[in-house]
Amino acid sequence: MDQTSAHHHDAAVARDLACLGLPPDNWPAAATGPDGTPVLDVLIVGAGMNGIAAAGSLLFRGVRNIAVIDRADPGREGPWLTYARMGTLRSPKTLPGPALGIPSLTYRAWHEARFGTADWERLYKIPNELWAAYLTWLQRVLSLPVRHRTSLVALTPAGRHLRARLDAAGEAQELIARRVILATGRGGTGGDAWPAFVDRDLAPQFAAHTNDPIDFERLRGKSIAIIGGGASGWDNAATALEQGAARVDMYVRRKVLPQVNKGRGTAFPGFLQGWSALPDAERWRYMAYFNDVQSPVPHETVHRTLAQPDFHIHLGCPVRAVARDGDGVAVTLAGEAAPRRHDFAIVATGFNVDTRAIPELAAFAGDIATWGDRYAPPAELARDDLARFPYLGAGFELTERVAGCNPALAHIHLVNHGATLSHTAIASDIPGVNIAAERVSGAISASLFCEDAEAIRRRVEAFDEPELQGTPFYMPPDERD
Ligand SMILES: Cc1cc2nc3c(=O)[nH]c(=O)nc-3n(C[C@H](O)[C@H](O)[C@H](O)COP(=O)(O)OP(=O)(O)OC[C@H]3O[C@@H](n4cnc5c(N)ncnc54)[C@H](O)[C@@H]3O)c2cc1C
Repeated sequence: MDQTSAHHHDAAVARDLACLGLPPDNWPAAATGPDGTPVLDVLIVGAGMNGIAAAGSLLFRGVRNIAVIDRADPGREGPWLTYARMGTLRSPKTLPGPALGIPSLTYRAWHEARFGTADWERLYKIPNELWAAYLTWLQRVLSLPVRHRTSLVALTPAGRHLRARLDAAGEAQELIARRVILATGRGGTGGDAWPAFVDRDLAPQFAAHTNDPIDFERLRGKSIAIIGGGASGWDNAATALEQGAARVDMYVRRKVLPQVNKGRGTAFPGFLQGWSALPDAERWRYMAYFNDVQSPVPHETVHRTLAQPDFHIHLGCPVRAVARDGDGVAVTLAGEAAPRRHDFAIVATGFNVDTRAIPELAAFAGDIATWGDRYAPPAELARDDLARFPYLGAGFELTERVAGCNPALAHIHLVNHGATLSHTAIASDIPGVNIAAERVSGAISASLFCEDAEAIRRRVEAFDEPELQGTPFYMPPDERD
């Protein structure tokens, strides 16, 4: 890595920001909490890609009294160095990343500064480690106030504000904030999906979810069942075999793997920007379609896995039960009487969306409006999983199930996968990250401005920078009408 060029790049970012006058001075009025002490304007929970972009975008709007927390260690935010078990991102390298419209903040500029343009040209896709390093660099170069190893445990109303109960490396702390952005990632709206037919007690000794830390060394020489055929299932199959598993059997309900990544076909500005303006019926119809067709496994992942001779895929094989069998697991398939025996099962069934299962929002659970509360689809499009998505407002804010039942919800902005039905995938995948950040920071900035209107009017009236001082027309304040 070229350190000199990396330093020059940092200087180039500083100059770009200076040329654009970013970030401007803080402007919201100083607010106090119930006990009279100062409060944060915005608490951002999650310092992954979406948290970084939202925080940067707020700073660029002059909303600077913010804090960002993440329960992970520095550099370990998000899935990239933990449960994302592919070697490179699935997306093309040309996506700008959370650059907030500034060329020097793009992944490409970061990469070229460190490894040269020839290396950029040669690069096929972005390795996970480099993407994680880029995100860490963004936190630093944007001077984001990130507190690591700090978890949001619970959020409750506190007068007009929100009280955040934190666990900071084992120490209980509290913060009061006027607005909260939950940029808590894929699992942030309901956690891992664990099918009812897989015995929960199998974990951790005989089963794990793909999102768990998995000690593949322990699985050396073992026979592994993978339940589900999505990209993460394949990444885990390849990882297990590359690290010495004897055999992997993947059980997939579908007879044919999904063929086309519709997400690629929707990653254009009109779609990403315009989705939230579509009528409810149209958004629902689209999502039902996307859910039905599903996303394919990237072809690189398929090739990587098929390079392992001990990989066996079973298409059209719905699993009925996964249960303990001595010192292993028994996998019972539909239509088969005798279960198939494995040493370990990996559950590859993705994430839930269920606002009642967000631990940090337990105090609000029954009050959050879902799509099921707001929209009744025609019978052929009824989908229980879609009905559980939160029904978000124009700035990603949660909305009340019954008007007036919990007004504080309007101050909690959910910028994660749970926003997909309301805003499409701009708050989860890389192509939309800047749009989501602009949208949530714009909404918060406008609502703080309205809330502070009285204080700001007084500030404007008191503003007295004498333009004409030194000219024959200057008049001191006490002589004016
Ligand atoms: C395996 C995998 C591969 C992916 N590959 C791609 C890809 O190639 N291209 C693409 O466009 N998208 C991809 N995605 C989708 C998406 O880009 C990622 O999920 C990305 O990480 C989303 O960023 P985020 O900031 O929303 O969430 P994350 O990166 O997950 O960050 C959320 C952060 O919130 C923190 N957090 C959560 N709860 C709390 C709490 N209570 N207190 C404190 N901190 C908390 C977590 O520690 C985490 O660091 C992938 C997703 C996965 C799971």
